[in-house]
Amino acid sequence: MASKRGLKRRQKARQCEGKVKHPTLEGAKIAKRKSGHRDVMPYRCKWCGFYHNGHMPRRVLKAMEV
Ligand SMILES: [Zn+2]
Repeated sequence: MASKRGLKRRQKARQCEGKVKHPTLEGAKIAKRKSGHRDVMPYRCKWCGFYHNGHMPRRVLKAMEV
């Protein structure tokens, strides 16, 4: 008897849990510089409305950083 676990927790609201929240894009940019990570990109989170620094594929970075 296969018992499937039908309890799928919605992860939408948890997307940004544990991430640093920046109230402004500038703040996120500064944090990025301080961290020294080049492969992250500040973006506005649609879940909490704050800004996070997230990892981006190199291709995307190259396209965005002019
Ligand atoms: Zn968020």
